Amino acid sequence: MDYQPRAVIVGAGPNGLTAAARLAMAGWSVDIYERADWAGGAAASSAEIFPGTIVDLGAAGHPFGVASPAFRALDLESYGLRWLNAPYPMAHPLEGAPAGILQ
Ligand SMILES: Cc1cc2nc3c(=O)[nH]c(=O)nc-3n(C[C@H](O)[C@H](O)[C@H](O)COP(=O)(O)OP(=O)(O)OC[C@H]3O[C@@H](n4cnc5c(N)ncnc54)[C@H](O)[C@@H]3O)c2cc1C
Repeated sequence: MDYQPRAVIVGAGPNGLTAAARLAMAGWSVDIYERADWAGGAAASSAEIFPGTIVDLGAAGHPFGVASPAFRALDLESYGLRWLNAPYPMAHPLEGAPAGILQ
C-alpha cells in the first residue's frame, strides 16, 4: 500500500468501535472521537434506577452479539469476552405490574 487510508469515527459506541476495529484490521489509520468519558456508548451505561439495583440502560441481552458476523470477525473471546447464558431469558423489576405499563 503506497498510502495509508485514514478514517475519523465520531462516537465510541458498539457500532463505532466495531467499524474502527475492522478498518484498523484492514490497515487503516483510525481516530475515534467520543464526547463521553467512557467507551461503549449506550451499551456501557448503567445506573441505580431502583434503590439497590444497578440497571444496564442500553444492554441487557445480546443475542445478536453472539450471532453477529462483524463481532465474530473481531475474535473478542481472545481478549477476554465471555458470553453468559442466564437461567431466565428475560425479567423486569416492576413488582406486580406488567412491563410497559408504569402507573
Ligand atoms: C433502553 C435501551 C435498552 C437497550 N437494550 C439492549 C439490549 O438489551 N441488548 C442490545 O443488544 N441492545 C440494546 N439496546 C440497543 C443498544 O444500546 C444500541 O443498539 C447500541 O448502543 C447502538 O450502538 P451505537 O454505537 O450505534 O450507538 P451508541 O451506543 O448510542 O453510541 C454512540 C456514541 O456516540 C457518542 N456521540 C454521539 N454524538 C457525538 C458527538 N457529536 N461527538 C462525540 N461523540 C458523540 C455518544 O456519546 C455514544 O458514546 C438498548 C437501547 C436502549 C436505548
